[in-house]
Amino acid sequence: MNEASMQAALLEESVSKGINKYSARAYAAASPSSGLSPASIPRREPQPKDVQIEILYCGVCHSDLHQVRNEWQDAVPTVYPCVPGHEIVGRVVKIGSAVKKFKEGDLAAVGCMVDSDRTCPHCREGLEQYCESVPTFTYNFPDKHLGGVTYGGYSESIVVDEAFVLRVSDKSDLAGTAPLLCAGITTYSPLRHWNVRQGQKVGVVGLGGLGHMAVKFADAFGAHVVLFTTSASKTGDALRLGADEVVVSRNESEMKKHVRSFDFILDTVSADHNLNAYLELLKRDGTMTLVGAPDKPPPLNVFGLLFKRRRLAGSAIGGIRETQEMLDFCAEHGITADVEMIQIQQINEAYQRLLKSDVKYRFVIDMASLRQG
Ligand code: NAP
Ligand code: ZN
Repeated sequence: MNEASMQAALLEESVSKGINKYSARAYAAASPSSGLSPASIPRREPQPKDVQIEILYCGVCHSDLHQVRNEWQDAVPTVYPCVPGHEIVGRVVKIGSAVKKFKEGDLAAVGCMVDSDRTCPHCREGLEQYCESVPTFTYNFPDKHLGGVTYGGYSESIVVDEAFVLRVSDKSDLAGTAPLLCAGITTYSPLRHWNVRQGQKVGVVGLGGLGHMAVKFADAFGAHVVLFTTSASKTGDALRLGADEVVVSRNESEMKKHVRSFDFILDTVSADHNLNAYLELLKRDGTMTLVGAPDKPPPLNVFGLLFKRRRLAGSAIGGIRETQEMLDFCAEHGITADVEMIQIQQINEAYQRLLKSDVKYRFVIDMASLRQG
């Protein structure tokens, strides 16, 4: 798809169900190999329960890259044009007539979901990410209002039902808060669920966006934190971020020193790697939870699990209630992401650097650059 046909497709999709729309500037990918370029997208005018947010900062998640490049085509094929971005912080500029939680001028945030069925047992428990009908993710999911798919935060504004909008403290550093909406909650939620606490030895695999938040949270929860990295040059940073020890995972003898010693390991790696080497490091009854989402299924050594009754688990983002709890926890404890601010025009270069594990430790787009550009 070239840029002209991309604009035509966007226009076609906006032929909708009688809902008033406005046009917003954005960055979109036209195909798996096109990279991202300027586009305008339709947004609905706020409905009674909607909040319209002017986006100030949007984090760049490796999931954005996976989806732009259609790397998850077996699970969630990408619909083009694709506007990624699900780590959104901004200011409320307009509200619908029935909105209760927000008023114009408030700070607000949006993460990976913009809706769910709200009635299934998971939604009722506040676990909308596991919604029986599949939640409406912030981008690349069917948009029940305008047709087509949802468009994410690489955009000047977004319109979301207030039930899926989070409150942000006005004392927070806003750029450092944006990555909490995905990297933050995706690591906070499993660490809480598996009750990571003082007295435990906890491993974090990979020091990228998710990994650096996992180190901060596991440290804040009082655990002894060991960071596993393929980048020896990140050792100093890992210790500064809260790790007690750092292991360069390509070094077998360093890995062997930790055999059968971990209560919990959180794996945040975005690419193929050997899970079995980490399972060996768990104690009896220890748990390794995957949050990283490489495109290929990894080979599993079943004996590594059954001889020590170990568990291998997974976890997806977090529910709305827990996301608010995490934001409030971060505001109270002064926790934010370590960010490298970029202009939207640098996004394709930032993706290239993500592929080389060269990010310290989250790219965040200053959305003012989109309005100027
Ligand atoms: P990221 O910033 O790119 O970090 C990934 C880190 O993985 C890298 O910094 C690197 O750390 C390590 N790594 C990369 N390639 C590797 C390889 N071949 N072998 C071993 N280690 C390697 O990515 P992210 O944004 O944190 O996302 C990480 C993964 O989580 C992605 O797959 C993303 O899609 C997924 N994700 C899942 C959820 C969920 O709900 N479960 C939510 C968000 C993201 P070192 O340099 O330290 O080795
Ligand atoms: Zn993400």
